Amino acid sequence: MTLKPLYKEKPSEPAKSDWLQEGFEHIWLPYTQMQDAALPLPVVDAYGCRIKLADGRELIDGISSWWSVCHGYKHQYIVDAIKNQTQQLSHVMFGGLASEPAYTLAKRLVEISPDGLSRVFFSDSGSVAVEVAMKMAVQYWRNKNNRNKTKLISFHNAYHGDTMGAMSVSDDDDWIHKVFKGYGPEQIRFAVPDENTLEQLAKNVAAIKDSAAAIIIEPLVQGAGGFKFHSPLILKEIYEIAKKNDLLFIADEIATGFGRTGTMFACEQAGVTPDIMCLGKALTGGYLGLAATLATEDIFTAFLSDDYGSAFMHGPTYMGNPLACAAANASLDLFAREPRLDQIEKIQRLLLSELEICRELEIVKDVRVKGAIGVVELKETDWKKIKQAREKFIEMGVWLRPFGNVFYIMPPFTISTEELEQLTAATYSVLKD
Ligand SMILES: *Cc1c(COP(=O)(O)O)cnc(C)c1O
Repeated sequence: MTLKPLYKEKPSEPAKSDWLQEGFEHIWLPYTQMQDAALPLPVVDAYGCRIKLADGRELIDGISSWWSVCHGYKHQYIVDAIKNQTQQLSHVMFGGLASEPAYTLAKRLVEISPDGLSRVFFSDSGSVAVEVAMKMAVQYWRNKNNRNKTKLISFHNAYHGDTMGAMSVSDDDDWIHKVFKGYGPEQIRFAVPDENTLEQLAKNVAAIKDSAAAIIIEPLVQGAGGFKFHSPLILKEIYEIAKKNDLLFIADEIATGFGRTGTMFACEQAGVTPDIMCLGKALTGGYLGLAATLATEDIFTAFLSDDYGSAFMHGPTYMGNPLACAAANASLDLFAREPRLDQIEKIQRLLLSELEICRELEIVKDVRVKGAIGVVELKETDWKKIKQAREKFIEMGVWLRPFGNVFYIMPPFTISTEELEQLTAATYSVLKD
């Protein structure tokens, strides 16, 4: 296999060991056609909003490492929290044994999440948090002796993860999930409605409510499935449709949670409390893998019984890992202590004013901003050009990775005005060319 580095300059200092080249022969990259896969950029350090490469160059991060690193890299407060926890207790199983960071975190998550959510089930990745939510929803009805309500209602352009259940509720026509179309549990998908199609959705849902367990949605912003937005009003209406039809309402806040859309959780803007809520990504500030599925007391109570079989049957090995939970507790401290929501508001203002200029470009279909999410959607998808754009961004010293027909910026909330302006300027410049 020929290896094509993304950049031309040779590393200024010879690498001490060739871990990259040697390891690359054995690595299988995500979402990548390996036949002509470019060699990833070797990273030797990251701090604040900067990613430092082995050749000494630095990239300004506009992706927050898949939207997780919300306080920037190497934040000393989180680093210390993890270090201290390592010296205390790195891991212990969650069955029969308890560790302080997880129990403290559960209490804190309930305190900051929409009123009514009261129980926390920990797992280690967002996809699993979604699987857990789906199993909870189906078993909720089974525990109530209803075995017909099994289907999940989801939406076009949804992305809920890459495991089997999560795929079944994601858009099955997108580039990530297409190959598995028709495999796995069969669910029901509708378009996210607008004011004109709400009534139709209400009718469609009413027609299938007896076989449906829940509606699952990414509130306000659909992420990897195309970065489509809907208003708090629409979200509220979808919630009402779920309630009217005796369906559970699952909010997948894995991408939107922890401030990304301008409030701590996107559901707040619609004033709704989901029956089940999934968290992940920025939960630990992006330092360690951790996810959580929150449920209301109503959901939880449906699992209480003299019959052991009514209990929730799930339990990831690394559930409630103390290191990850210590990082999450530290991250919550930072949200309380540092002006994150103000920073997000400032990012929103800057993205709105700086990306607007992209709208005048012939190839651009739409420009939209919500919280610390800036999106430029193109009229067409051309993967060859997307690849060129990715290379151009690196040459310009920014880390942005458009995909499909979408260019997006989701920076760490701690990004400076100058750094953010470099991201928006690079976006315009690359689109213009
Ligand atoms: C990333 C994401 C997931 C999956 O999380 P993983 O940790 O990658 O498994 C699920 N839902 C949404 C909305 C996401 O953005």
